[in-house]
Amino acid sequence: MRPFGYLTPADPAAAIAAVTGRPGAAFLAGGTNLVDLMKLGVATPDLLVDVTGLLPDLIEPTAAGGLRIGAGVRNSDLAADPRVRARYPVLARAVLAGASGQLRNMATVGGNLLQRTRCLYFQDVTKPCNKRVPGSGCPARAGDHRNLAILGGSPHCVATHPSDMAVALAALDAVVHVEGPAGPRALPITGPISGPLGGLYRLPGDEPDRETTLERGDLITAVEIPPLACAGNSAYRKVRDRASYAFAVVSVAAALDVDGGVVRDARLALGAVAPVPWRARAAERVLAGRPATAEWFGRAADAELAAAAPLPDNAFKLTLARNVIVRMLCELAGTELARDGS
Ligand SMILES: Cc1cc2nc3c(=O)[nH]c(=O)nc-3n(C[C@H](O)[C@H](O)[C@H](O)COP(=O)(O)OP(=O)(O)OC[C@H]3O[C@@H](n4cnc5c(N)ncnc54)[C@H](O)[C@@H]3O)c2cc1C
Ligand code: SF4
Repeated sequence: MRPFGYLTPADPAAAIAAVTGRPGAAFLAGGTNLVDLMKLGVATPDLLVDVTGLLPDLIEPTAAGGLRIGAGVRNSDLAADPRVRARYPVLARAVLAGASGQLRNMATVGGNLLQRTRCLYFQDVTKPCNKRVPGSGCPARAGDHRNLAILGGSPHCVATHPSDMAVALAALDAVVHVEGPAGPRALPITGPISGPLGGLYRLPGDEPDRETTLERGDLITAVEIPPLACAGNSAYRKVRDRASYAFAVVSVAAALDVDGGVVRDARLALGAVAPVPWRARAAERVLAGRPATAEWFGRAADAELAAAAPLPDNAFKLTLARNVIVRMLCELAGTELARDGS
């Protein structure tokens, strides 16, 4: 591992100044992703600026009736919070679906949002990778891409975003609060159309090394979730290769409000299918005001997945994602699923 300095600044402003003024500096939170990447030689910061003691670690009600979650809140504490469990079960379930108990005890909300892709080539410094070394190529397209993106990828990168928590936050219209050299600002996790546009995350395009709209020195301080009536009836489903301690192959976060058999409100986001937590706005538009039936849930899934561009070894994710979406929405609506799953 490359030698590095370690700094415990007195306050967030000093932490921001330390990272802004030094290109090799990085914020350190729980370290469960960053330190792994340093051991692999993928991340080579020359200064770690420890923010664990500086970030808010409380979950507080907002004046609007939602919750403000400090960026320093540990993943375990977030999942265990009674308000989160009762009012936003999709978020508690998503966090519990990630990593292991020990890791969740260390991992913070801010670090979880900014964890890096698990693409094998990204993590192997002996291989080319446009995300790690811009312009070096993307071996995944012709190589191992079973777990990679079917939506939102580009010829330059088809990595997937690994966070479970971020998928739930995307479905819940969460807003990320940031302090930085340019002052404080708030960013939605996802924008007004399918995918990430206008929010925290960026699609890879021809710059896969730029994953977010954050600038150097920007420090995530909190995440706010609005009050959302349908969130009380919400769930997270993660399909993975083994029952625990594995990243998603496909995941779905959904919240549904049905009145008299008709969809009054639906929130849907997909994980492990795109370089970003994928808000499924096209599907939501199909669902609004429609009968809460398996047929309409399938139409909504088809509308979202119409833009998919799978590679040979991950085309199965199309069927898998459709099936999970339909099954989850049926469960949330209390609707019978037809024998053939349609
Ligand atoms: C074996 C294993 C299995 C895992 N399985 C899953 C899984 O199934 N699902 C899942 O979602 N995750 C999984 N994870 C990932 C885990 O959730 C992340 O490592 C963790 O959430 C990162 O949080 P952290 O606080 O440790 O971040 P760190 O590792 O400290 O930081 C991560 C990145 O965020 C930056 N950063 C941290 N805090 C801030 C901030 N406040 N503002 C700006 N930048 C910041 C750091 O500079 C760094 O670039 C797994 C990890 C391991 C090791
Ligand atoms: S998919 Fe992205 S992260 Fe993976 S090898 Fe290609 S450029 Fe690198």
